[in-house]
Amino acid sequence: MAPIGGDCGEDNEPTTVVTDRGTTITRAEVSSIQTKSAVRVARDHAIPSGRGMHKLLKCPVCTSLMYAPIYQCVNGHTLCSGCKTTAQNQCPVCQHHLGDIRCLALEKLVQNMELPCRYQNSGCPEILQYQNQPDHDQHCRFRPYECPYAGSVCSFTGDIPTLVSHLKEHHKVDMHDGCTFNHRYVKANAEEVDNATWMLTVFNCFGRQFCLHFEAFQLGLAPVYMAFLRFMGEDEEAKKFGYSLEVGGNGRKLIWKGIPRSIRDSHRKVRDSMDGLLIQRNLALYFSGENKRDRELKLRVSGHIWKEE
Ligand SMILES: [Zn+2]
Ligand SMILES: [Zn+2]
Ligand SMILES: [Zn+2]
Ligand SMILES: [Zn+2]
Repeated sequence: MAPIGGDCGEDNEPTTVVTDRGTTITRAEVSSIQTKSAVRVARDHAIPSGRGMHKLLKCPVCTSLMYAPIYQCVNGHTLCSGCKTTAQNQCPVCQHHLGDIRCLALEKLVQNMELPCRYQNSGCPEILQYQNQPDHDQHCRFRPYECPYAGSVCSFTGDIPTLVSHLKEHHKVDMHDGCTFNHRYVKANAEEVDNATWMLTVFNCFGRQFCLHFEAFQLGLAPVYMAFLRFMGEDEEAKKFGYSLEVGGNGRKLIWKGIPRSIRDSHRKVRDSMDGLLIQRNLALYFSGENKRDRELKLRVSGHIWKEE
């Protein structure tokens, strides 16, 4: 199966190569084949492509994709350079002596190989050079989203429909259909500004989902509250929407007008950039009116979401 010079030794290109279809090709043709994608080779010769190939190139120890230098033990178990360093000269698979044996065949195979993006099944059409995959993986718009729930650490990832049902079922988040909202927020002891964070509601609006966050934290020495909206999708789509938030009482009102942030940005990042409605606690207590004695905080947050033309 190896028309692309699969020897494990020196980097000499063969002058002629006989393919397994019995045709002889020249050195020039060899290099042209090498630069053409191995995907085609994969199709013609049944090398597993896409996910199958990703699986084959996964380090059996840490399960991340292997890039040159790729090592192997005396029994041929491959492992990545990171795991080679931590393996202390013993193969993690068979416990045999490890040495410094490179797996040049695999290194060469992947050198000019092109593979579909690992998120192909989620819709990514990209075909990428193997070594460019890690970079693309990090930015691919089809990569799974992290769970946007802010109240506790959650490592769940998935596409938007999966996340919506996860939020509903696992985090018991309120779902609300419509583009306007009016929420009353009550906190028993307003003197305690813990680093609290709540995601109040997910709004179903224009067929998309938006998460309303409400957080309490210390800004320098001043305790503040902050409300903001995140969009369940990519940043460039988020920019097509706008939202407003209002909070007030006692004849005063604070209004914020903004653009929802993509859930690709963590709620912490949005908070740190102050991209939302900020309410000083003293003012919040003033808004909430009576009950000064028990310092109960009552805030009415209302808002609406619209689509920019
Ligand atoms: Zn590894
Ligand atoms: Zn081994
Ligand atoms: Zn992709
Ligand atoms: Zn979650």
